[in-house]
Amino acid sequence: MAANCIFCKIIKGEIPSMKIFESEKTLAFLDINPLSLGHALVIPKHHGAKLTDIPDDQLSEVLPVASKIAKATGSDQYNILQNNGRMAHQVVDHVHFHFIPKPNEQEGLGIGWPQQ
Ligand code: IMP
Repeated sequence: MAANCIFCKIIKGEIPSMKIFESEKTLAFLDINPLSLGHALVIPKHHGAKLTDIPDDQLSEVLPVASKIAKATGSDQYNILQNNGRMAHQVVDHVHFHFIPKPNEQEGLGIGWPQQ
């Protein structure tokens, strides 16, 4: 854990979040400034700024959790993004994977997430 990391504070419960999955190694919660309804972040609890700072065993659940979220939303149109460094548009220096669903024009987002 890093004392000044906003995502470590979310893990510790010091900052509120809309959690949608939690296990020993992994946390997923809704993005506070969503690019689309259901925009979520999946993070390893192990603190590290960049992908290469995280031990493999701490990353092992991240994509399976993103897959579970995709299934739960019913969305089959979505982006998974992970930014490293300011030039790559990383703002929060704790590794996170964005899950950004694209609404289906006919069917919406399936069950979706609560409105923010
Ligand atoms: P980045 O540009 O890949 O670093 O994305 C950081 C993301 O974290 C942005 O989409 C922010 O909206 C999101 N974010 C920042 N602070 C919080 C928070 O306190 N709760 C939830 N999401 C946050």
